[in-house]
Amino acid sequence: MKKPAVLNEFKEFITRGNVLDMAVGIIIGGAFTAIVNSLVNDIINPFINTIFGGFSFDTMNIQVKFPWVTLMREFGNYVEYPTFRFGDFLSAIISFLITAVALFFLIKGINAIRKLAEKKKAEDPAPTTKMCPYCRTEIDIEATRCPHCTSQLQ
Ligand SMILES: [Zn+2]
Repeated sequence: MKKPAVLNEFKEFITRGNVLDMAVGIIIGGAFTAIVNSLVNDIINPFINTIFGGFSFDTMNIQVKFPWVTLMREFGNYVEYPTFRFGDFLSAIISFLITAVALFFLIKGINAIRKLAEKKKAEDPAPTTKMCPYCRTEIDIEATRCPHCTSQLQ
């Protein structure tokens, strides 16, 4: 029985290297986001709390009694006054900045390692000769027969 074309297509898609790289990236990214959020909510926020006494991002809410909402309520429409949680918004911005800085240093580090590897590669290029195991003379790396002792080489 012939496999349906879409199955082959899917197999091709999933076995392509960058799909797996992407999946790993997404999973690591999700885990990293949890770490950054925890850093902001569990470490930085309580620390700010000790400095500014009682202040925390969670309490930075403001409920605005818009006059039109009051009017609607007076006419018997129960409408909630909006609460602007700008503390949470600030938390999100701080999380983003931490993530961006961490990514910057990660990429900087990876680039430095890559540059080092390239430099090393440039310094000692791939060998072009090899040693004949029979007569110990230097011969071309591609040679299958030694020009000096005429031995057959693997
Ligand atoms: Zn030889």
